[in-house]
Amino acid sequence: MSATSQPSQPSKSSQQADRPAKPLPDLCDPVTAPFWAATREGRLTVPRCTSCGYRLWPPEAVCPQCQHAEFAWEEVEPAGTLWSYATYHRALDPAFADELPYVVGLVELTCGLKMYGLMRGDPAEMVIGRAVTAVFEPADDEVTFVRWAPSADG
Ligand SMILES: [Zn+2]
Repeated sequence: MSATSQPSQPSKSSQQADRPAKPLPDLCDPVTAPFWAATREGRLTVPRCTSCGYRLWPPEAVCPQCQHAEFAWEEVEPAGTLWSYATYHRALDPAFADELPYVVGLVELTCGLKMYGLMRGDPAEMVIGRAVTAVFEPADDEVTFVRWAPSADG
């Protein structure tokens, strides 16, 4: 099969041509590996600097406050409020075309940190300030994503 006769399509690999695979995190990245290990167990964790105690999200290789490079990962409540959101009617990544329209939310966790995530539930029912709860969605045997859904009591 000649590539020149095909219409231009992103062809990163030889997997399914009609639907590209959704991107998965690099589980070997030491900066984020503890997060993914915890989500597999249905736990939401964030790093805290072991030197100055600063808690941050997203994870970084060194503490932005004191440049220390070691963190302890703490479990936080998998809940918060919807701080902002955007509804996508076009998929920036074609792998997400089957989920249109989808909502990307910025969730303010009850611990105060803010975390981006795909929202579950009816896009028409997203309201800023609404209580949301984490939904742990396994993508495969190794990766479990964190999505967010309106809380039942919110
Ligand atoms: Zn620090």
